[in-house]
Amino acid sequence: MIPSLREKCGVFGVFAPGEDVARLTFFGLHTLQHRGQESAGIATSDGDHLYVYAEMGLVAQVFHERRLAGLPGRAAIGHTRYSTTGSSVRVNAQPFVVEGKDGPLAIAHNGNVVNAQLLREDLEARGIAFTTSTDTEVLAQILVAGPGETFDDRIATMMRRASGAYCLTLLTRDAVYAVRDPLGIRPLCIGRLNGHGYVFASETCALDHLGAEFIRDVEPGEVVRLDAEGLSSSFPLAPDGAPREQLCLFEYIYFSRPDSYLGGQRLHPVRMRMGARLQREHPVDADIVIGVPDSATAAAIGYAQEAGIPYAEGLVKNRYVGRTFIQPDQRLREQGVLLKFNPLREVLEGQRVVVVDDSIVRGTTTPRIVAMLRRAGAREVHVRITSPPITHPCFYGVDMATRGELIGAHKSVDEIREHSDADTLGYLSLEGTILATQAGPDRHCTACFSGRYPSDVPLELDKLVLEADATRDRHAVPAAPRRVPVRV
Ligand code: SF4
Repeated sequence: MIPSLREKCGVFGVFAPGEDVARLTFFGLHTLQHRGQESAGIATSDGDHLYVYAEMGLVAQVFHERRLAGLPGRAAIGHTRYSTTGSSVRVNAQPFVVEGKDGPLAIAHNGNVVNAQLLREDLEARGIAFTTSTDTEVLAQILVAGPGETFDDRIATMMRRASGAYCLTLLTRDAVYAVRDPLGIRPLCIGRLNGHGYVFASETCALDHLGAEFIRDVEPGEVVRLDAEGLSSSFPLAPDGAPREQLCLFEYIYFSRPDSYLGGQRLHPVRMRMGARLQREHPVDADIVIGVPDSATAAAIGYAQEAGIPYAEGLVKNRYVGRTFIQPDQRLREQGVLLKFNPLREVLEGQRVVVVDDSIVRGTTTPRIVAMLRRAGAREVHVRITSPPITHPCFYGVDMATRGELIGAHKSVDEIREHSDADTLGYLSLEGTILATQAGPDRHCTACFSGRYPSDVPLELDKLVLEADATRDRHAVPAAPRRVPVRV
């Protein structure tokens, strides 16, 4: 398919006695579908038992009325997955359930734990067996079998040992937890349902669709517990492991939905400001400004307004091109961009076009878009990117590419322009990107643009590092038993 940045995962949690928590979770996950399209799952608790169903596919493909009816309870967590550690196979779908000293635990994870292999080796040396190839199961095993008398002690142990990015929702018989790593690399927020309970979600847009009121973000390094007593909070690592927020800058640029809030900022205007700054940094004489839909639309509008050039829709996106289930033949794969976008000749013909996109990763999509615009009659094509060149890989839950595959790591801006056959090319500066967030300095992870990682990272972390066998085909579906609603 079209190489691009791959979203990470979406997590959700709800504690709402008397509500249909499985259905609330279904709608929450549906809103977070953009964060992961490979698998979806829901786990519920009725106070005595946990029930779970997780399967490959989109949320609406995995769940229907009968499946939701098989997930009773007053509390639930949910997950949409794009694999960042572990293959895209059914057995790795989340949430999954582990049995521990205090009963069953279901876990859903967004992020990537960079020292998962070391942690796993340590657990295996103590006789703990693993059933999946994910870093999430490593966290789960520490939570149920690690040192610590109480569950709260073991959460603290996990937070002390795990390095990297993790936003977790956890489900026990009695409670739902949200846990955010001390760097706060991935977003996680809390909302209140109309007097009937609380929800956790990766993004605020999920709260809006449920009619829940946004309360606040889960703070970096914070553990929030929801139970029959209400909401309680703790910071297990304080004061030694003082939190230092390093929210992923790409959440602002691309990953999160434009109607979500991050750090108190609605993302649509943030992206418009990025476009306006981009115009000031890289102006050009042109007739129209178009965006590569949908993620660059707001930035294109911002660029057009700042330039005083009309904004137009020059590309129509097929929103139903999925990643996992559509395997185009070789001819279509080579022309992948044709599956996703269709140019409007009536808009483009004879025009000097500014096309705004959010990023260039491997450099395979941009030349195809430029060629597509030229074939549709564009007289000039000026590419503008609302992020700096990507020069380093991400170890925190974004599957972008290895360093060797990143065009920004090996070619100058002018070489990338030439490679793309664009008339001109301009990237937004890192300073301009950060200023557009209005979040203040030193609040973001910028590692893929700057090489400054906020934590220690291994030099070459392979997302399949925890695979037990040689199977490395991300589309492989092993003969694992089908997950069915189970009582544990
Ligand atoms: S390396 Fe880039 S994509 Fe990964 S968390 Fe940091 S800013 Fe986000």
